Amino acid sequence: MSLEPGLYVAATPIGNLKDITLRVLEALQGADVILCEDTRVTAKLLGGHGIKAVLRPYHDHNAAQMRPEVLERLQDGARIVLVSDAGTPLISDPGYKLVRAVRDAGLPVFTLPGPSAMVAALSIAGAPTDRFLFAGFLPPKSGARQSALRELVTIDATLVFYESGPRLAASLADMAAVLGDRRAAVARELTKLHEEVVEGGLAELAARYADTPPKGEIVVVVHPPEVAAPAAAD
Ligand code: SAM
Repeated sequence: MSLEPGLYVAATPIGNLKDITLRVLEALQGADVILCEDTRVTAKLLGGHGIKAVLRPYHDHNAAQMRPEVLERLQDGARIVLVSDAGTPLISDPGYKLVRAVRDAGLPVFTLPGPSAMVAALSIAGAPTDRFLFAGFLPPKSGARQSALRELVTIDATLVFYESGPRLAASLADMAAVLGDRRAAVARELTKLHEEVVEGGLAELAARYADTPPKGEIVVVVHPPEVAAPAAAD
């Protein structure tokens, strides 16, 4: 299959290597170059699907240097695929400035949609999904984390956070302190062997994980603030 020239932003699996679309496989196969965060991680993915390709790193530390080169190649008609280590690029991952620069240069950008931990967690957490706010990673230090949470207190929507195992309990405790003891779900290791969703109140979840930080990758889904029940009619 011949790909049109342009930048392809391609989602890759968040655990299970089979979670990859036919379009992404075709693009990875047909790309002149694949930009990835860690060439070892992407080489493993490609190896799993029998694909050989030219890989170039594109991450926070070399992005500014790489962008002019990438733009030049796109201007010359290259087909360039951007992937991250897992999930959808740009979602708590590099790529925003590249997409911005390519669009500003009037060159084509195509999406190859697929997995994202945020959507995967929301789809099974059992929290309302009509309105949600993705807040990414909270700051690692409690003071800054609580300030960030204070900005979210009045938002009438489900809140979605990325978190790491070692920080989970402290983060849940700050959420309970600032947001109130709302219902929440800890979605862990999605699409992997030890996939699980643990639900409870924020304070209960904080206590549960305080002594035994969980292993693996985590999304925290917090239900919206309770709407006060209307006063009963006489
Ligand atoms: N771009 C990715 C996406 O679309 O999901 C997210 C990249 S971000 C650097 C990595 C974070 O996503 C992890 O620290 C974790 O919070 C979450 N994550 C990634 N894979 C996950 C999985 N299989 N289960 C639960 N959370 C996951």
